[in-house]
Parts: sequence; C-alpha cells; structure tokens
Amino acid sequence: MSRPRCSQCQYVHEQCVCDLRPSLVSDIHLVIVQDKREAHHAKNTVRLLSLAYSPVSIIQIAEPFVALDLPDDMSVENTLLLYPGEDAFPLVRENSEQFASTKYLLLLDATWRKAKKMMYSLDHLRCFPKVALTDLEESNYNIRKTSVSHGLSTLEASARALEVITETDMTPLVNFMIQSHKRQWRLHPNIVSV
Ligand SMILES: [Zn+2]
Repeated sequence: MSRPRCSQCQYVHEQCVCDLRPSLVSDIHLVIVQDKREAHHAKNTVRLLSLAYSPVSIIQIAEPFVALDLPDDMSVENTLLLYPGEDAFPLVRENSEQFASTKYLLLLDATWRKAKKMMYSLDHLRCFPKVALTDLEESNYNIRKTSVSHGLSTLEASARALEVITETDMTPLVNFMIQSHKRQWRLHPNIVSV
C-alpha cells in the first residue's frame, strides 16, 4: 500500500519539505525539458525547483525524441537555452545586452548523453541561442552528477543562470535543495520515495 503524501509537495509525510521551501519569483519563465526517465530518479531536483520558484514549466518527453511542445510565444528573440558548448556565449553580466529581451530560460534535464540526443533529434531546440555558465564553484549536488550543465543539478544551474539574468539572489533556492536532501537522506539513506 502506498504511504500517504503531503498534498502540497507530494512527498511522503516524513519527507515533506514544505516548511523549508522559499517562494522565489522573477520575470524569467523557466522551461525544463525533462527526459521522462529522469523524473523518476530519487535525486532529481526539478520537483524541488518547481516547489520553490515560479514561473516554471516542466515538459516531459521520452525517447525517441520526436516532438516538443513548447509555449507558443517562445521565440529565438526571447529565449535562451542553457547548454554549454563552443557556440554558447558566456552568461555574465557584461553580456547583459544579449539577454535584455529574455523571457524564457530553457534547460534540459537529462544525462549528458540524452541531452545530446535531444539536441540532435529536435530541430526546435537547436535554433535557440545558447548560453553557458562561467566561473563555477563546486556543485552542492554530490550524489549524482549527470545534469547537462557543467555537472550542476538542474536546480543549481537554474539558480546560477537566474542570478545573472535577473540580478536576484537565488541562494535560498540552492539552500532549499541542500536542506531537503539532508532531511530526506537522513531519514531514508537508501530509499527516497519519489
Ligand atoms: Zn509537503
């Protein structure tokens, strides 16, 4: 029988993180394209991200990656794709002119291999200008480093990118992830219910 869940955060009651969560808002709409297989990984940070930040949209897709249903008004002019590579421009304040019109920040929540596959398979994604984070400190995401953004979890990568674009302190978002993981792993070091 499945254990009862918190109606707010959807974690089982003893892992509820509602008392820890901040409520961060900005003008930048995060759009996370998530490999469906990632969603079920116990350490996935996208659920935590969606609890603590808004606006955020999560679009789940599964292999084969053939279609992607993005928000209608997303365009090359108002969207940045956080995806490192030679053709990505550094996401730093000095380049703020290049993201003055940014409304959407797009991230891929997948392993490197799957993210590359998404990029290869979905023409849609390749047309957006790419940005990459710089001067990265070490990730707080110690358990599993498979995210597409420099080994950071999707939540951390989102927080860093939002800090640059919006000039808002996103530390509470990262702290929320750290505190939530601590709580959940202290209680159930081997099994985190998702
Ligand atoms: Zn809760």
